[in-house]
Amino acid sequence: MGRLVVIANQKGGVGKTTTAINLTIALASPERRILLVDLDPQGNASSGLMPPPQIAAAKASGKTIYEALVGRIDISEAIAKVRENVFLAPSGPDLVGAEIEMATMEGRERRLKELLAPIRNDYAFILADTPPSLGLLTLNAMVAADSVMVPMQCEYYALEGLSALLSTVTRVRRVLNPDLQIDGLVLTMFDQRNKLSHEIAREVNKHFPDKVYQNVIPRNVRLSESPSHGLSVIEYDIKSAGAEAYRLLALEMLRRTLGEAAAVEATTQEGALQGVQIAEEQPGRRMWSLRALFAREGERGRRGG
Ligand code: ATP
Ligand code: MG
Repeated sequence: MGRLVVIANQKGGVGKTTTAINLTIALASPERRILLVDLDPQGNASSGLMPPPQIAAAKASGKTIYEALVGRIDISEAIAKVRENVFLAPSGPDLVGAEIEMATMEGRERRLKELLAPIRNDYAFILADTPPSLGLLTLNAMVAADSVMVPMQCEYYALEGLSALLSTVTRVRRVLNPDLQIDGLVLTMFDQRNKLSHEIAREVNKHFPDKVYQNVIPRNVRLSESPSHGLSVIEYDIKSAGAEAYRLLALEMLRRTLGEAAAVEATTQEGALQGVQIAEEQPGRRMWSLRALFAREGERGRRGG
């Protein structure tokens, strides 16, 4: 059964879409078809993976997730193949209207779950990118999902709003989706020269030791450049720190969901994610793991530096 992961945080600009796009590409392989559902009316995940003419065509012909949500087309019509083993259900500005149109529909919180049910087994993972709000679209994603992944920017107020998100998850669990899990918190835009980044990382790790992903996403200019080319960072610059970080995050995600043995088998059989061997303990790159980061801080502390 395909695992549906919703990427959510009602705070804007924390790296939800960047995480959705790059995890989608990092996870895809001949053994794993991935579907990305773009539930954000801003459509940034769509434009990050699909060329503008194709998006315009999808909108013009009404083949978007919006049309599927309001029941005008079948979900399969809204899904486009964007790479080998990578599929996208694009959004568009119309999605704002979907929230309003759906407001009076019976079972409005379960629309996405119902839509995806017949195609769920066609994919190893379905990722859903959501808007920066806890409205009906995000709620639909949480009701359909197996788990929630929460990107958090390593900035002041990173933890602010997290309690609102967590209590929404608790409420969804109680009423609509008892199996919903918190898959993990992802620290994004980590700046190793910035003391605050380290403090936030430590704070989040202290409060949520079992939930926080060990692989931290650094601030990396390649990550902000790649979407304007319609590419993931893995396709845009495979050697960049951003590409490395998202591939490691994908590997950690596989470990968490499949279990260690199955994940290692999956990635070694395929020659690792996206055909490039990941050197987890490569010197100089270890800063992207929390464990290594805290160890180095400890070392510096002992040296009095
Ligand atoms: P919104 O809430 O508006 O949907 P978001 O949470 O999806 O925002 P993104 O769009 O992924 O956030 O990121 C916000 C901006 O920061 C974008 O311009 C993106 O390119 C940039 N960005 C995201 N992650 C990184 C990173 N690790 N390094 C550098 N730039 C980044
Ligand atoms: Mg976004």
